[in-house]
Amino acid sequence: MTKSHPDLSDIVATIGRDMGAHLGGGKVADYIPALARVDPRRFGMAVIGCDGQTAETGDAWMPFSIQSISKVFTLTMALERLGDDLWKRVGREPSGSRFNSIVQLEHEQGIPRNPFINAGAIVVTDALLAGRPPAEGVAEIRDFMRRRADTETLDVDPEVVSSEAATGFRNQSLASFMRGFGNLHSPVDEVLEVYFNQCAVRITCRQLARAGLFLANAGKDPINGDVVTTSKRARRIAAVMMTCGHYDASGEFAFHVGLPGKSGVGGGILAIVPGKAAVAVWSPGLDEAGTSYVGAMALKRLAAATRWSVF
Ligand code: GLN
Repeated sequence: MTKSHPDLSDIVATIGRDMGAHLGGGKVADYIPALARVDPRRFGMAVIGCDGQTAETGDAWMPFSIQSISKVFTLTMALERLGDDLWKRVGREPSGSRFNSIVQLEHEQGIPRNPFINAGAIVVTDALLAGRPPAEGVAEIRDFMRRRADTETLDVDPEVVSSEAATGFRNQSLASFMRGFGNLHSPVDEVLEVYFNQCAVRITCRQLARAGLFLANAGKDPINGDVVTTSKRARRIAAVMMTCGHYDASGEFAFHVGLPGKSGVGGGILAIVPGKAAVAVWSPGLDEAGTSYVGAMALKRLAAATRWSVF
């Protein structure tokens, strides 16, 4: 990475400085009360190359709530466990709807459009749980995340879990609706317990970029050699990130950034630069679609400066 981009640290440092003028932009998610308390002026960015080189700026070491970015990791786990059979229960087309929308589910017989909208992610979590007690599913996901992020300290924020459970009416509706169609096998409250826990993992930009690195390196962790998934699956997960990673604003993200990415309402975004690097940004203010406003701006700058867009 240093040879082809000798100035990456400078690029990242410049982005960090430039974002100063935009801090506080967007609107912090308040439908999950525990997320509304986060300081909206935070910004962090971390880039880790497939060669292990890193560049970071701002609050790259400050933990935030992973939220929907966890869906990338549960999708990876479920594909490893079930293989292509998973695609019988969830599609892979952009929805053009908000992340928590229920409108398409009735027409499409309880099969969610893709694994990144909430309905799809809840099905993926159910597939992963496979009838086991929720605590087993939670521990499995946490341990997978710890291994990927290369840290034993990664954990779930219990306050965010209870905040999500107390206000999760839409997710309860989506899950109940899908159970009515036979596309949820475990009881609704058990699947949601796991889903809320996976969304409440606390992670830093540095850890998140490290955790996503296998997707930039054809499914193999370039640092510890773990074969996390096949190169074909890594490519396909990245394809779904590109087409569906930002819900009804996925086209905008492809247009401006041009990298597979996944947003979360905690303000984090994971972006993959195939063959080169993984990037994580965090800033809590969100745009209308629930993507970090300053985070997306920073990624747009990074892609322009490095010419890392895949297009
Ligand atoms: N936990 C959040 C929810 O289910 C995740 C949404 C998101 O990050 N887009 O509503």
